[in-house]
Amino acid sequence: MHNVVIRPALVFLRFLLCLAGLLSPLPLYASSPPVSITADTAAVPLAASLDTRLTPLDTGLPVIIGDNVGAWQANSRRLNSFGYAADHALWLRFRLDRQDTSQPLFVRYDYPNTDYLDLWYVRDGRVLAHYQGGDRRPFRTRPVDQRNYLFPVPAVAGPVEAYLRVESQGPLEAPLALVNAHQADRDEQEMMLWIGLYFGIIAIMVLYNAFILLIVRQTAYLYYVLYVLSCAALQFVLFGLGFRYLWPTSVTLNNTLTMTLPALTLATAIAFVFSFIDLKRHGARWEQWIAKGIFAACAALLAAGLTLPYHVAFTGTKVLTFACVLTGFYIGVKYWLKGVKSARIFALAWFSYLVFILVYLLELSGRLPSNLFTRNALAIGATLELALLSIAFADKMNEEKDKRLTAQNELLQIQMQTNADLDRKVRERTEALEEANRRLQMVSITDGLTGLKNRRFFDESSHAEYQRAYREKTCLSFLMIDIDFFKRINDTYGHPFGDLCLQKAAGIIMSAIKRPPDLAARYGGEEFIVMLPNTDTEGAMTVARLIHRTFAETVVSDGQREVTLTVSIGVAGEIPHEREGREALLKLADERLYRAKESGRNRVEWLDGGSAATA
Ligand code: GH3
Ligand code: MG
Ligand code: MG
Repeated sequence: MHNVVIRPALVFLRFLLCLAGLLSPLPLYASSPPVSITADTAAVPLAASLDTRLTPLDTGLPVIIGDNVGAWQANSRRLNSFGYAADHALWLRFRLDRQDTSQPLFVRYDYPNTDYLDLWYVRDGRVLAHYQGGDRRPFRTRPVDQRNYLFPVPAVAGPVEAYLRVESQGPLEAPLALVNAHQADRDEQEMMLWIGLYFGIIAIMVLYNAFILLIVRQTAYLYYVLYVLSCAALQFVLFGLGFRYLWPTSVTLNNTLTMTLPALTLATAIAFVFSFIDLKRHGARWEQWIAKGIFAACAALLAAGLTLPYHVAFTGTKVLTFACVLTGFYIGVKYWLKGVKSARIFALAWFSYLVFILVYLLELSGRLPSNLFTRNALAIGATLELALLSIAFADKMNEEKDKRLTAQNELLQIQMQTNADLDRKVRERTEALEEANRRLQMVSITDGLTGLKNRRFFDESSHAEYQRAYREKTCLSFLMIDIDFFKRINDTYGHPFGDLCLQKAAGIIMSAIKRPPDLAARYGGEEFIVMLPNTDTEGAMTVARLIHRTFAETVVSDGQREVTLTVSIGVAGEIPHEREGREALLKLADERLYRAKESGRNRVEWLDGGSAATA
């Protein structure tokens, strides 16, 4: 009965309290629920448990603890990133309710580049512990020696409030998680594995392309290598490795590098884009100006990086990054469409970078879950981009090699064609020359008026024939033919008619000799000679008589005048009994011709000692 009455009353009372809580601005109801810690707690993301507020930079902890009314906002969108507020401090509050104190616990803040971090653990308005961090303070101020921040949670049971003050000229990031020592160790080791992998890939790309640079000596490779190196240097700083391992006390150096390396990266990137496509040669004028503009802006940013307010330089870097990546993508697509094959992978490289930038921005604004992948989207995108660019480079080299080969082949074909043309011309010229020579030779051995062989030819071939006759012991005969009273014909009818007579005479003589080795030649003015190899005097007489008769039977006429020629012929033949008997034989034939003339002309003389025979 007691229970029956009390229970509803308590429920009602609780309802009223809740109603009052909803209406009144009590912090209990405006704030996020506490994180309960048990022995099993390994890793709890804190984004859902955060209350946030922005204050002027000089607002101290007492004010923050004391003033709870309406100032805090629950992080209902579970953001890890809170935009920019260079002249304000971001305060984050979360509550821990520790039921187990047996294991060491840490609040992990996973963004190495925040300027100042202060974390207070407070119970009942009393500060239990205060830790410091941030890259504007020397590395040793951190409670745990690690590239990101681990703040120990006090080993006290029960509720504790934690206040984290974040002050930065850069983005106000707060990727917070509650982790035990084991988990913190594991996560960091895993992260270091990924980081090692990242720098391994970068190192391979740098070495590979540096070797190619040494061999091909193209400026595009130089810019690429510089681009990769500055990307790597920037990531080395952003991962917090430089501060942790190389310059733990040099706060200024760390922040200067954070400011200048992005500008350097962009400058080398745009220089690379410029030289990869060879914009100077292929690019439109305005494209060249855009590239030059970005380059100049990067240089200005680099120079001003030290003097400009951090957040202004940061905004400049962001704008230029976008301009640069868009330019790379635009140029890649443009030259891809223009038919440059290697531009395809080039465009893909910048496009993938764009996608990863988008992923990063979506993670920042809480639209994508925050995890290892999304938080490191920029580094992953850059790596993928660099790898794709490397492939684009290889592709380009291949393309250029193909072009070179094609050009070489074309040159070779032209050369071969030229050689063939040259060969043909030489052959033609040689043939023409040979033909001319043949003709010249013919002319040189032919008598121009009669077409018979000339005296020179006769001398040479009669000499050879005489030698042969001597060797073979065969008979060689000569007929010496002279037209009778030719001077008279010339005198009576004129020289041209005389020429016609000579031509007719040549025709008569030629028609009388039938055998191939026989030879008729013009020996002098109206004197002819016939050589008959392998023919005895008897045979020679037959030919002589035939010639003699044909002359007598032939009328030479030019249409107006008519004449019949007579000839005197001396015949001599022998089987040579000495080598040098040719002159003697010719002389004999000449003597017989003379005798024929002496004996009254128009006859054939063939024997010595007065025994003449008239045909
Ligand atoms: P013979 O009976 O003693 O032989 O008397 P011929 O007049 O024939 O002998 P000669 O040697 O005294 O005269 C030869 C002539 O042939 C002299 C020259 O006018 C003529 N003659 C020589 N060569 C040519 C020529 O090429 N054309 C012409 N039309 N006449 C020529
Ligand atoms: Mg004569
Ligand atoms: Mg004569």
